[in-house]
Amino acid sequence: VGMTQPIAFDNSYARLGAGFYTRTAPTPVQGPALIAVNETLARRLGIDPDWLRGPQGLAMVAGNAAPPGAEPIAQAYAGHQFGGLSPQLGDGRAVLLGEVVAPDGARFDLQLKGSGPTPFSRRGDGRSWLGPVLREYAVSEFMAAAGVPTTRALAAALTGETVWRETALPGAVLTRVASSHIRVGTFEFFAIRGDVERLRALAEHVIARHYPDADSPMQLLERVVAAQAETIAQWMALGFIHGVMNTDNMAVSGETIDYGPCAFMDGFDPDRVFSSIDRAGRYAWSEQPHVAVWNLAQLASCLLPLMGDADAAVPDATRIVHGFPALYDAAWLRRFGAKLGLAQPGESDRALIERLLALMAAQQADFTRVFRGLATGAARDEFRDPAAFDAWARDWQARGPDPALAASANPARIPRNHRIQQAIDAGLGGDFAPFHRLVAAVTQPFDDRPDWADLADPPAPGQEVRVTYCG
Ligand code: AMP
Ligand code: MG
Ligand code: MG
Repeated sequence: VGMTQPIAFDNSYARLGAGFYTRTAPTPVQGPALIAVNETLARRLGIDPDWLRGPQGLAMVAGNAAPPGAEPIAQAYAGHQFGGLSPQLGDGRAVLLGEVVAPDGARFDLQLKGSGPTPFSRRGDGRSWLGPVLREYAVSEFMAAAGVPTTRALAAALTGETVWRETALPGAVLTRVASSHIRVGTFEFFAIRGDVERLRALAEHVIARHYPDADSPMQLLERVVAAQAETIAQWMALGFIHGVMNTDNMAVSGETIDYGPCAFMDGFDPDRVFSSIDRAGRYAWSEQPHVAVWNLAQLASCLLPLMGDADAAVPDATRIVHGFPALYDAAWLRRFGAKLGLAQPGESDRALIERLLALMAAQQADFTRVFRGLATGAARDEFRDPAAFDAWARDWQARGPDPALAASANPARIPRNHRIQQAIDAGLGGDFAPFHRLVAAVTQPFDDRPDWADLADPPAPGQEVRVTYCG
């Protein structure tokens, strides 16, 4: 990398060759304008934030000019959507610019989302409107700040062009960063075609890139199962509902990916669903660990042809997938134990946690405020009937909780739906100040800040957002 190359690209996925992707440049836009640049993330990637804010950076994040070393491609993948197999999906509104090797050697995909049509767009326009770009930026950056494995947002830009979604809306592009964009659906793409050669190359690529200590496809499966168990336990502990856990939206790295109709609960209801298209509640909050097992079973099926003798491999792979609940339960207990301020929660604490959740559900208490209140002493105020909480709190206090631990596990602020909505509405009018304020407040989620107290408030009557959309 010389002075002339602002980004240290090394495109290992592109080297996998034909069949894994189609070379596709982003489609240039009329009126590129920056909305946001994530300077901290830029520095972490070894990209000069001033370059990114400058004309060349803007040209890159709007899709008007790829910098030296980029090799734009649309990745091929398949996926089970709501349980039904779609054999041909792929990047329909995204382009992978390439992989950045950060100063510490870590490798990250740099992807544009909303950058125009690709050979995988089918009837879609390949574009995104402003709303989903702001939503993904705020939510993914909150998740990163909260310590959840996730894709990141490096930049957001307006295109100066109109996108049609029943009405005319401003177009926008998100620059997404991920340790990779390889999904369960990427494996499905080759498995359902019987392309064992590329399946093997993909597995080797993923092992080298994400799980270098794994020495077989069986161990790869084991690592992905473990990573997903940790990630989904973290979603649950934040009241996060992904909304569209199709296998094409499950990254094999374990990172949370594809923030579409996702949302955080305000009032707690384990069966909560926000997505307009999830009518059966397949992806409700309480279903997420079960859906993960279903998705991981698809991955296991895909990997079987690489596992040698099927008579031996099938029971082993099955055992690994069936190992998810124990890993998830342990992660869940650790996460929710910390939320209660218990550093070493024991099996008997499970009932204590479940009792609190049942109490919260019965009174539709605010998920974030109750848990934050355990650290600050304000939890009681979140219950319409505090007497029931008091009875629980006596048993909890008997366990000797540590408020500092609870404060570090329970965010004061999350990107609440109604605040995201307000940021989008202001952005549609050209005012991005509410968006920037929201991002600042949710990326420092664990300090109590009086100037951001309004962002910790639940929605007022009439403000609550109950339905979210894919984009
Ligand atoms: P998602 O629901 O975001 O996971 O997307 C599912 C599939 O639809 C992926 O293959 C996307 O690339 C594709 N897709 C979604 N929106 C568009 C769009 N506006 N234009 C083209 N393809 C799209
Ligand atoms: Mg997707
Ligand atoms: Mg999506």
